Amino acid sequence: MTQFNVDQCPNCRSHIAPGLLVCPGCKALVYRDRLQAIATEASAAEERRDFPAALKLWREALQLLPPGSGQFLTIHQKLEKLRPNVDSRALEEAEHDRKIPKPLIAMGAFGLVLWKFKFILVFLATKAKVLFLGLTKAQTFLTMFLSFGVYWAAWGWKFALGLVLSIYIHEMGHVFALQRLGIQASVPTFIPGLGALIRLKQYPSGPVEDARVGLAGPIWGLFAALACAVVYTLTGWASWGAIAKVGAWINLFNLMPFVPLDGGRGFRSLTRVQKWIAVAVIALMWIISHEGLLVLILLIAIFNAFSKSQAASPDHRALIEYCGLMVVLTGLSMMPVTVE
Ligand SMILES: [Zn+2]
Ligand SMILES: [Zn+2]
Repeated sequence: MTQFNVDQCPNCRSHIAPGLLVCPGCKALVYRDRLQAIATEASAAEERRDFPAALKLWREALQLLPPGSGQFLTIHQKLEKLRPNVDSRALEEAEHDRKIPKPLIAMGAFGLVLWKFKFILVFLATKAKVLFLGLTKAQTFLTMFLSFGVYWAAWGWKFALGLVLSIYIHEMGHVFALQRLGIQASVPTFIPGLGALIRLKQYPSGPVEDARVGLAGPIWGLFAALACAVVYTLTGWASWGAIAKVGAWINLFNLMPFVPLDGGRGFRSLTRVQKWIAVAVIALMWIISHEGLLVLILLIAIFNAFSKSQAASPDHRALIEYCGLMVVLTGLSMMPVTVE
C-alpha cells in the first residue's frame, strides 16, 4: 500500500493522529484528496480497459475509507462488478490471438503448425515474464536456494531442482492471479521442507476472489507436473517422472478443503450442492486410484459439505477447476515411473 502521512485535516486543519481515517473534529475524510485522485485514475484505467490497474486503485481507496461507511460499501460493490471484466477481457485477448492470418490458412496444415508455434511464443512472451518475476527478488531467490540445498542433501540435486521449481511455479500461479485482481502481496518465501508461502498485504474482497487466487496455484502446479511427465515420457529420465509424480501429489495435498490450504479457499465459493458434487468426484478418484491421501481429502470435504458456512450462489468456475484438478492430478500421481 502506498503510505500517505497526513498530519493535518484538509478541511479544518486540526491535528490528525496516525492511522485515523476520519477527522475527529469535523468528520471530514482525512484522505479526501488522495481518494479524489484515485477515483480519477481508476476511471481512466477502466476507460482504457486496464481492469487489473482499476481494481488495484479501488482496493487502495478501500483502505483509506472507514469500513462500513457508505463510500466503503459503494466501492466494495464497484470492485465486485468490475472483477468479472478481468476474465472477459483476457478471453477477448485470447480470441484475438486465435485469429489465424489468411496466408497461414492458405498453407494448410503447415500453416497451422506455424500458427500454433506463434501462439506458444506469444504465451511465453506474455505469461513467462510473470514466471521469472519472483526470481528477481532476493527474498524468493535466497530462500529458494536454501530449500534446494536441503532437498539436495536428502534426494540429490536433480530431484531437488525439479521439486523447488515445481513449488516455485505453483506459487507464481498465486502471484499471477493476485496481480490480475490488483491485490497487493509479497513475493514467495520458501520454507525448506514445507513449500513456500505468500503474504497478502490486502485481502481478497470475498469468497469468489479467494477461490480464484487459491486454485490458481494448483492449476499452474498441474501444468508444471504435466510438463515433467511429458519430458519423462519422451526421454525416459527417471528423475523427471519422479518430479511429475511428487509434484502432482503436493498439489493434490494442497487441494485439501481446509483453510489456509488452497483447496479450502476454493471450497469457500461453493454451495452445499456443489460441495457434494466435489465429494462424489473425490470418492470416484479414490476408488480408481486407492491413493490414501484422497481418503483424508474426502473426509474433510464431507465435513465441509455438512458445515453451516456455505456460499449463497454457485461458483461454476471454481467447481470445474477443483474437480478438473482432482481428476488430472490423481491421474498424474498414478503414473508408473521406473527407477533406474
Ligand atoms: Zn477536520
Ligand atoms: Zn498454493
